Amino acid sequence: MNKKTIEDIDVKGKKVLVRCDFNVPLDIETKTKITDDRRIVGALPTIKYLMEHGAKVILCSHIGKTKDKQTLAPVAKRLAELLNCPVPFAGDVIGPDAKAKANALKDGEVMLIENVRLHTEEEKNDPEFAKELASLAEIYVNDAFGTAHRAHASTEGVTKYLPAVCGYLIQKEIGIMGKALENPDRPFMAILGGSKVSSKIGVIENLMEKVDTLLIGGGMTYTFVKAMGGNIGDSICEEDKIDLAKSLLEKAKNKGIKLVLPVDTVVAKEFKADSEWKVVPTNEIPDGWQGVDIGPETVKMYSDLIKSHKTIIWNGPMGVFEFEAFAKGTNAVAKAMAESDAVTIIGGGDSAAAVEQAGLAEKMTHVSTGGGASLEFMEGIVLPGIAALNDK
Ligand code: ADP
Ligand code: MG
Repeated sequence: MNKKTIEDIDVKGKKVLVRCDFNVPLDIETKTKITDDRRIVGALPTIKYLMEHGAKVILCSHIGKTKDKQTLAPVAKRLAELLNCPVPFAGDVIGPDAKAKANALKDGEVMLIENVRLHTEEEKNDPEFAKELASLAEIYVNDAFGTAHRAHASTEGVTKYLPAVCGYLIQKEIGIMGKALENPDRPFMAILGGSKVSSKIGVIENLMEKVDTLLIGGGMTYTFVKAMGGNIGDSICEEDKIDLAKSLLEKAKNKGIKLVLPVDTVVAKEFKADSEWKVVPTNEIPDGWQGVDIGPETVKMYSDLIKSHKTIIWNGPMGVFEFEAFAKGTNAVAKAMAESDAVTIIGGGDSAAAVEQAGLAEKMTHVSTGGGASLEFMEGIVLPGIAALNDK
C-alpha cells in the first residue's frame, strides 16, 4: 500500500471532504426507507476517526443513477442514529446551503451534502464542478471503493485541487487484494465462475499470470468444455469465445498452471427454480438439458483443493445460485473457503451476495464491497479513484 491514508495527515481543525459509498438500497414504494444500511455502517470507522481527530467532516456520495435524482436525505437521518449526534444535511451539493453548513462546522462535527449525481457534471468529471466541490474543504478523503473504477468529479476530479488520501475501507480493499495479487502466500488459487467467459476474460488473463491453480465453474464452464470437444447439450456457451478458451487452456498448460474444470454437472431441463434435474459427467451433457451447477464429485474435489491452498480468490458463482436447488455448488465452495485457514477473498457483486446469502461473509478474510471495482482490480486495471490519491 503506497497511498497515504487518513492516519498519515493532520486533520485537526481542517475541513475534510469524504467521498463515501452511500449508494444504499431504498424501499420501492416510498424511496425513503433504507432497506440495507451496511454501506453506511462500513463507512463509520473513517468518519469516527476524522471526528475524533478534530476534523470538520463533510460527507458526500452518490445514490442511484443520475436520472433517478434521488435524495440522500434518508442517509443523513440514519447516520445521525448510528453516530448518535446531529448530522446536518445540505439540500444542495455546491450551492449556498452546502457552503453555509460547511462553514458553520466546528471541530469534530459532521455533515452530509446532497447526492453528487444531482449534477450531470459529476459523471462527466467536469473540472469546474470538481473545483467547486473541492472548494468546500481543505483535504479530500476517498473511501468509496465501489466507484473508484470511475473517474468522476467526486472520485478523481477533486484530487486535482486538494491533498487526497484514502479512508479505511479503500485501505483495506487495496491492502488485502493488492497483497494477494502482488505477493500471495502460496499455493495461490483462483476460483472463477459466473455466467460468461466474455465478462471474465480480463480477470482470467491477469490471474493466470499469478496463480498456481485455477478452478472453473458456472456458466463459463461450457465454453471451455466445448473447446475441448465435449458435449454441452443446451448449456450456455459463447461460440465466439471458443478459440479464446482453447488458447487459455493451452496457456495454462505451458505455464504449468493447474486449470481444473468440473468433472460432473447438475443439468436442468428448464431454466426454472423447480425444474427437473440430474447429475451427469460435464463433457456428456445430453441435448435438451443445460448445466446449472457443479456436481457433487466436483464439490468434493474443489473443497479438497481449497484445503491445500494458502491464498484463494473467488469471483463468480458456481451455478445459478438464485435458484435454491442450484445453489449447492456455490454454497459448498463458500463453506470450504470459510472453513479454510487460507487468506480468502471474494470479489464481484453476485459472488459477494452469494456469500452473504450463505451467512459466511464474516468467515472470509475479505469480501470486497465493490462489484465492478473489484473485478477491475482483479484484472490488474489501475482504478482512477485510487491512482489519483497521494503517494506515501
Ligand atoms: P459476479 O457478479 O460475482 O462477478 P457474475 O455476474 O459474473 O458474477 O455471474 C453471476 C451470474 O452467473 C449469476 O446470476 C448466476 O445465475 C449466473 N450463472 C452461474 N452459473 C450459470 C450457469 N451454469 N448457467 C447460467 N447462468 C449461470
Ligand atoms: Mg454480476
